[in-house]
Amino acid sequence: MSTLIEKYLVLKNRYRNFDTKYAIKRMQAFRLAIHELGEKGYRVGLELLGSINFGIVEPSSDADCILLHFCELHKNEPTCPDNCPNFVFEKEELSKSVNRKLDGENLKIDFLDNINLAYIDTSIRNHDILGNEAMYRLLFYRNIARPVNRPLFVPYCDLLEENEDFVKEIIPWATEALSGYLKTNQHRLSFNKYNERILSQGMLLPQELADELRKYLEGDEEENNEEINKANDDKDNESKL
Ligand SMILES: [Zn+2]
Repeated sequence: MSTLIEKYLVLKNRYRNFDTKYAIKRMQAFRLAIHELGEKGYRVGLELLGSINFGIVEPSSDADCILLHFCELHKNEPTCPDNCPNFVFEKEELSKSVNRKLDGENLKIDFLDNINLAYIDTSIRNHDILGNEAMYRLLFYRNIARPVNRPLFVPYCDLLEENEDFVKEIIPWATEALSGYLKTNQHRLSFNKYNERILSQGMLLPQELADELRKYLEGDEEENNEEINKANDDKDNESKL
């Protein structure tokens, strides 16, 4: 996708190498909880955003996630309303089940969005893809977040990525969405927190990553892109930072 998105993905993948034991434990708790919901007949997947996405998790970190599920009650709607009984039940079960597996750690799980895969399935079959915002969101989350129960929704993402017209259409939308997401103070704060945590755990942050992170956090998007281009041209270009 665009430079900004590529940059974000590079950063995310490097951070992921710093997976803490809490991040690993939490991912496992989410996987088990989703599996148990599946056994009860609820087909649910998650995209995890925030600190777990970067692997830097401490017991006090909250979990932000996007819920993806099949809801027949709202099969004509891309997103279930907050009072959808399926969505309500799934959220409650997940919160209870994940916390039980974390030995009563009392993890706060925020559900930032939900996508109805029953709607996605029908819409893709009907070729209702271009200009369909639910498709944008699905592929956007797939690109920036960390999946739980990936097989449930990745076939749809693959179909969308194979559609050249759709990919052309989503890039400007995704760039804007990502830029908005990154510009929130919370996100900037989080990045700084990740760094502190890495350093406080005695892990050495590679100089290159530290430089990238600084560029990422400073200036606006255009400046960032210029910095990235300069850095690519001249890797020793560190003096001005
Ligand atoms: Zn619903």
